[in-house]
Amino acid sequence: MATRTGKFHGRVEGAAERCAVRGCREPGEYRAPLTAADFDGPGTWQWLCLGHVREHNATYNYFAGMSPDEIQAAQSPTAGWDRATRAFANAGADPGPAWSDFKDPLDAISARFRPGRARRPLARFTGEERHALGVLGLTDDTDLHLVRRRYSELVRRYHPDRNGGDRRFEKQLGEVLAAWQVLKTAAAFA
Ligand SMILES: [Zn+2]
Repeated sequence: MATRTGKFHGRVEGAAERCAVRGCREPGEYRAPLTAADFDGPGTWQWLCLGHVREHNATYNYFAGMSPDEIQAAQSPTAGWDRATRAFANAGADPGPAWSDFKDPLDAISARFRPGRARRPLARFTGEERHALGVLGLTDDTDLHLVRRRYSELVRRYHPDRNGGDRRFEKQLGEVLAAWQVLKTAAAFA
């Protein structure tokens, strides 16, 4: 608890508040927790003088209301990170900044969810190559093996020698041959 004690119970220079204890005239230079800070918020505080913060620390039970597992987790050196990670379990492996690093919760939220971190995948195919894939009836998640097989099927289907001399498929055959010429050297298949 050394880190937490130093962070939460440290003397604050220049504090203007009076000690919160009724009747005490000492300056309230020490922040004392009334509820524990966690990822949902900063907790609540009162300002106490040195004498009263010592008294407060002696009686304040940080672990009040916690289960044994929660007490063990809170005593872990990585307690804060663990809590942040669970809070953002659906946001990826990066636990992001701790809530207590920010004065304003909106700053923390915008920092955690700042846009532009995801990289766009590079386009695999040029426009000409995409057109060629369309001629073959393929999408851009194909590979060269599928392109070659589709090309062979369409050549057989459209070739006049395989259509009893019917030349109606000549235009389609020309497009399929051209598509193959484009795709067989596509950088995506290199
Ligand atoms: Zn006092």
